[in-house]
Amino acid sequence: MSIIDILKANATDYGIEINQDLAEKLEIYGRLLKEWNDKINLTAIKDDEGIAIKHFLDCLLVGKVAEFKDGMSIIDVGTGAGFPGLVIAAAYPNINVTLLDSTGKKLKAVENMAEEMGVKNVKIVHSRAEDAGKSPEFREKYDFATARAVAELRVLLEYTLPFVKKGGSFLSLKAATAKEEIDGAGNSLKTLGGKIDSINDFTLPGGDTRAIINVKKISQTSPKYPRPSAQIAKKPL
Ligand code: SAM
Repeated sequence: MSIIDILKANATDYGIEINQDLAEKLEIYGRLLKEWNDKINLTAIKDDEGIAIKHFLDCLLVGKVAEFKDGMSIIDVGTGAGFPGLVIAAAYPNINVTLLDSTGKKLKAVENMAEEMGVKNVKIVHSRAEDAGKSPEFREKYDFATARAVAELRVLLEYTLPFVKKGGSFLSLKAATAKEEIDGAGNSLKTLGGKIDSINDFTLPGGDTRAIINVKKISQTSPKYPRPSAQIAKKPL
């Protein structure tokens, strides 16, 4: 079975429809992901089933938690090979997706893959989150921020909440450790203006568990945050 056949066969169980346009884009994405992976270290998941389930389906689950409306904006922080941001951009052509990462060579691959897929609703930003989060171009400009496999929750909140408009959300894609990370993030939430809105558990085909934490931004983030990288690492909130 091809990557798209595996994805289609499993997505319906989650109420996710893979239309023709999305199938064509993801087919190109899967092929190029493997090609790029031979050149640079993009992702540890390289087999067709893994790409279909642990990358594409996993990222599409974000659409079960967030209500994306045309014209909305998302920033994917630490997008790596484009997860979840490029998958979301492919699935929702009428929302604007910013893909941010501090590693230039990964972004070069992402830019090439987006172009070959015909995905036009993406903007690529090469920066550390802590730096872009201070810039008026990006600060409190987004309806949603997303992040998968970038840092622990209390650190991630400092990376992501400065980008989110008051009333918007940060969607954190996590594995089974979510509950402990939430317990450790109370001070970070309070300091940065976030509140846990919901924790959404999923089991992927094959049995891996996932949680998407929806953190609502309930008040503006103080201009003191994000702090410089060294300080965040040394003294997480
Ligand atoms: N989100 C992708 C995924 O789920 O496959 C990539 C995960 S990869 C393990 C972590 C990515 O986050 C890397 O590409 C790294 O360059 C990026 N990253 C880590 N800290 C960052 C920061 N402070 N600002 C921007 N990017 C960051």
